[in-house]
Amino acid sequence: MDYEAVIGLEIHSELKTNTKIFCGCATTFGAEQNTHVCPVCLGLPGVLPTINRRVVEFAIKAGLATNCTINQYSKFDRKNYYYPDLPKNWQTSQYELPIAEHGWVDIDVDGQHKRVRLTRIHMEEDAGKLVHSGTTIKDSDSSNVDYNRTGVPLIEIVSEPDMSSAAEARAYMEKIKSILEYIDVSNCRMEEGNLRADINVSLRPVGSTTLGTRTEMKNINSFKALEDAINYEIERQAEVLDEGGKIVQETRTWNPERGITQSMRSKEEAHDYRYMPEPDLPPIITSAEEIEEFRRSLPELPDARRQRLINSFGLSEYDAGIITSSRAMAEYFDAVVDEGADPKIAANWIMGDLSKNLNADGLTIEQSPVEAKRLAQMIALIDKGTISGKIAKTVFVEMWKSKDAPDKIVADKGLVQITDTSAIEGVVDDVIAKNPKAVAEYKSGKKKAIGALVGQIMKATKGKANPQLVNQMLAQKLG
Ligand code: ADP
Ligand code: ZN
Ligand code: MG
Repeated sequence: MDYEAVIGLEIHSELKTNTKIFCGCATTFGAEQNTHVCPVCLGLPGVLPTINRRVVEFAIKAGLATNCTINQYSKFDRKNYYYPDLPKNWQTSQYELPIAEHGWVDIDVDGQHKRVRLTRIHMEEDAGKLVHSGTTIKDSDSSNVDYNRTGVPLIEIVSEPDMSSAAEARAYMEKIKSILEYIDVSNCRMEEGNLRADINVSLRPVGSTTLGTRTEMKNINSFKALEDAINYEIERQAEVLDEGGKIVQETRTWNPERGITQSMRSKEEAHDYRYMPEPDLPPIITSAEEIEEFRRSLPELPDARRQRLINSFGLSEYDAGIITSSRAMAEYFDAVVDEGADPKIAANWIMGDLSKNLNADGLTIEQSPVEAKRLAQMIALIDKGTISGKIAKTVFVEMWKSKDAPDKIVADKGLVQITDTSAIEGVVDDVIAKNPKAVAEYKSGKKKAIGALVGQIMKATKGKANPQLVNQMLAQKLG
């Protein structure tokens, strides 16, 4: 049987507020355990929560940036469950009337364009963190609870089951990450758990329009794990179905060491959570004017920025997509172009040598030792013919190490391109004299033979000869 995969994601993103969602405790990551706590986030009796205004603002911005309708009347609900990471024994979340609904984002996979619909975005508090004495809860004698994360604000972004491959799910999550970074509401550091996804996967026969039974993998916090877990789950489910079995609706965990998903528990239904209205918080009422103000405050978003790079600078869709996938990279690109560099050449350097060096040194583009201005200066030297594109690679490495200006490096290291015929005439004559075979071939009509001669001249001048000039001189001398 041929199956089609059906995938829906619930993405949790911690918001980058200074303080927690219902109290004034700090949200800083990595603090000593249980130092950012107070009676409110510890759920002590008799305390009352107060909503952090900034959380509502960030959630509305996320909704607007993903084409959602903002609910002017929204409220909190209690999601009840009993587990030590939540001292109140319920999570203050939104159920009935979330802050935002019915949005969409566009993704491109292998040149195919697709729209993924968002069901909703709601606000909630994060839970604490259990630290087991062993590696897993099963082989531990005891577990400690760190409540620093309890009450850190989250938005949960729920998609419709609109994706049908691991690549599409990844592209969707990358798009959401990029949007949240652009609007500056989350740090999106997946390795710190700022951004994580629950993935829901089911199969159905190709052509069918009804949904199959799904399984859910929680807290996936890398793009690799996301793709691997989905691909594994698609294969596992296909095998079960092919053998005439039924998929059990359950929560599974992704085991990255073994590269498999494992059954964890049967899936709870909404009614298991006994959702009920949160009586301690008033509804959140947002006026149409306030919403419009938030809309106006949004920056240029990734898709618009990408289109701008295509339209104004003639970048390819692919290149523009890479440059704008991160706001910091897009800003770096704009800065290089503002300094007068040719956009396509700037894009090539950013996606090539710059990205390669950043990856190798584990740096973000904001930490690049080569500033946008320096890269633009170097591109200007190529433009003027002071250095060749090949020498530029050496200059780039030197800039990376010393942070010096490119013209200083060129002067110090004597890397100026030779554009004066008299300076290389001797070398050209020498190479002609030493390569009678290539010369004869060229003269007999094999024009390609000139390449070997150019190569030798470039080598003899350590790459400093202007290749065009060398070609001209050879053609002239050989008739
Ligand atoms: P929860 O998992 O918390 O009970 P929902 O019922 O709203 O919440 O579903 C969560 C996610 O599961 C959504 O992203 C939705 O698109 C996805 N989903 C629902 N049904 C299926 C299905 N049959 N196959 C794949 N994904 C599904
Ligand atoms: Zn607190
Ligand atoms: Mg779920």
